[in-house]
Parts: sequence; structure tokens; C-alpha cells
Amino acid sequence: MATDHIIVGGGVYGAGTAWELASRGEDVLLLEADEIASGASGGLGKRGVRANGRDPRELPLMALAYDMWPTLADELGVETGYERTGHLRLYERTTAGLRGGFETAPARAQVQSELGVETRVLSKERVAELEPHVSDDVVGALYCPNDGVADQTATTRGLARTAVELGATIREQTPVRGLELDGGEVTAVVTDDDRFEVGETVLLLSNTHVPELVESELDRSLPVWTTWPQVSATEPMDDVPVNHLIGHDHRRLALKAIPGDRVMISGGWRGEWDETAQQGIALDDRIEGNAADARAVFPTLRDVDVETADASRPESVSVDHVPILDTLPEATNAIVGTGWTGHGFAISLAVNRLLARWASEGNRPELLAPFSLDRFSNAA
Ligand SMILES: Cc1cc2nc3c(=O)[nH]c(=O)nc-3n(C[C@H](O)[C@H](O)[C@H](O)COP(=O)(O)OP(=O)(O)OC[C@H]3O[C@@H](n4cnc5c(N)ncnc54)[C@H](O)[C@@H]3O)c2cc1C
Repeated sequence: MATDHIIVGGGVYGAGTAWELASRGEDVLLLEADEIASGASGGLGKRGVRANGRDPRELPLMALAYDMWPTLADELGVETGYERTGHLRLYERTTAGLRGGFETAPARAQVQSELGVETRVLSKERVAELEPHVSDDVVGALYCPNDGVADQTATTRGLARTAVELGATIREQTPVRGLELDGGEVTAVVTDDDRFEVGETVLLLSNTHVPELVESELDRSLPVWTTWPQVSATEPMDDVPVNHLIGHDHRRLALKAIPGDRVMISGGWRGEWDETAQQGIALDDRIEGNAADARAVFPTLRDVDVETADASRPESVSVDHVPILDTLPEATNAIVGTGWTGHGFAISLAVNRLLARWASEGNRPELLAPFSLDRFSNAA
């Protein structure tokens, strides 16, 4: 018997779209290779729920997600670890190349505010009031009061659990190996031991696995690659010096307070694939490089050791740093979602709702149009 909607991948996208489809009374099956939240949607610490500094194409999605994050825990009946901390994008330079520096902050604030993301330019003095431990070199900040943080593992597992309560079926330890096609549509999803017939749509939401599957089964190459983002956490502190979610204009730096009185350090440093370990690993010099940036901006962190680091969670990156969300000419009932580029978590609630609407009603929602594949071709 066919299932109306089959989802490949049990990260925040697969689990969240399963929840949204089940909430609409749709028939859903989710197939996960390992366990829920074993990919980019799990792991150390928390994720930033940040609009500040995003590509303008993603800002309307963040404006929608802002309304959804605060009530999600109550809707799911689970802890999501969500906190509206606000985000400060810090500036240490007045000018930085053609695209950076504090002089760019008013224009950025204008665009973000017009696209539904409340944003203010803060003076050096105001930043020092909000973050008393910040370096004296900081000259100002771009502030989004509605940004925050959430626990990615708890959120993803909560979405999956509630999807099941609403009637979705989830099969873990069930890697998808192939697709069967007929007449330009996917008719079945194939695993080691089974084949699952598709009634209406298949949603390929397995992050770094999507390009691999699309290449092998549909003979189409997506302009996406895999990276291993590095995150680390300090030892516990008596007085955690970071109050907000922190970003930086010219340093690859993100900071947030996480449970256990620690500071999580991230922001774009990468680990590497290790052939022997068969996973992404964090490298000492890069952990130290990321920590050095953190200590330059929050000098009190100089006395604090980094206790743990991780780069085992793969993430897909797209050429223009925004995701690909589209159907494919080779399989018109397959919706793909990949290329999140290290910032897919925050927008996921909004995207999942729109993906569920797309799968169930058959039309791509207007807010997802900027993420279609034709942006990379002359066909547009
Ligand atoms: C270290 C790190 C820090 C980040 N920080 C932030 C942040 O602060 N803010 C933010 O917004 N975003 C952040 N991101 C990005 C965000 O976490 C991801 O974009 C998001 O979690 C992607 O969700 P997903 O469901 O697409 O993928 P995943 O969570 O990777 O889920 C994909 C799932 O597919 C499964 N799968 C793989 N192959 C198969 C197969 N053959 N069959 C079935 N299932 C399969 C995997 O096991 C996995 O569970 C960060 C990412 C990382 C890695």
C-alpha cells in the first residue's frame, strides 16, 4: 500500500515537516538512516535562532519563524531550550573592505527592518551596557532583539515524537538506498530490506545525502558540497561573561551561553573528514584559532580553557549560501531541501510549514520561490 508522503531524513527538516504534515491530517512515513537528530540537527550545545546578518532572501522566513519559536515548546509539550536572548553583531572596525565595518550597519538595519526583522544600530556605550565584558575595541553593534537560541536535539526529537503522536510513522536505522521512477515521478523509495510506494510526494530532506541521492538516482548534479562545522565549549565558569547570542562583522565568531555555565564558541571554523575515524574531526589549531577570536572580543575568556570540541556533524553548503528548495524535472513529485550552509536551524520552523503546504496542496508557496534551482541557470 502506498504512503501519501515519504520523507527521507530525520533532522529538524524531516521531523518538522513530518509534524506539519501529520498536523494537517496527512499520511506520512519518515525514513532515517541512523536515529532522529543524528546529523546537523543534533550535537553539542545550542543553535542560534538568528535573523541578524542573514541573506535578505531568508529574512521573510525568519519573520515567520519568529512567531513560531516562542510557542513551539507548548505546542509539542516538550522542552526546546528556546530563549529570546537577542543577537549582537559586533563591529571592531569602522570600515572593513567594501562590505563590512560599522559604517554598513545603518543600511543593514534598514533592510532587515523593512523585511520584518526588528533591528537597531547600537553605540559603543550601549553595547558595553548590554555586554559589560566586551572588549574596548568594539565600536558598536547591530542588534536584533527577537533573535535567540534553542536546543537543536531536544527540538528535533520533540518534533519527531509529536509527529508520531499525530499519526506519522518514523523508521530509524533505515537508510534509503534508491528511488524507483516511472513517467517522471518517484513511485517508490528503496531501502536495504523494503520498498515503500509513494502515493503523492517524496521529500528528500537528508541534508548532505540529498546531492548524492539526486546524482545517483536522477542523474542531476546539485551545486552543493559537504562541510564539517566546528563548535567548542569552555569549561564551566563562575560568572558567564556572555549575555546575548553574539556574532561578529569580520571575525568568524559566534558565542552563546549554554547550560552548565559554559560558553559555546563557533562561527564558521571547520573541521575535516578523517578517513580512519570515518567522521569529521576538530583540529587543535582551528579550535585555538576560534578561541583566540573569542578572547579578543571577550578578554575575560583568556583565563578559561576550551573543554570540548566537535566537528562530527556534516552540513551541506550551497554556492550562494542559501538553500535549494525545489522539485526536479526528472521527478516532479520529489521536493528537495539541501544547502543550508550552516544556518538552516533557525528558519526550519517556517520552511517546514511551507514544505508541508507544498506537498499537500501541490503548489510551491511564494516565500520559497527565491530558493529554486533555476537561479543557477539561464532558464530563469
Ligand atoms: C555545528 C553546527 C552548528 C550550526 N549552527 C547553526 C546555528 O547556530 N543556527 C542555525 O540556524 N543553523 C545552524 N546550523 C545549521 C543547522 O543545524 C542545519 O542547517 C540543520 O540542522 C539541517 O537540518 P536537516 O534536517 O536538513 O539535516 P540533518 O540534521 O543533517 O538531518 C539529515 C538526516 O538525514 C539522515 N540521512 C542521511 N542519509 C540518509 C539516508 N540514506 N536515508 C535516510 N536518512 C538519511 C541523517 O542521518 C540525518 O539524521 C549548524 C550546523 C552545524 C553542523
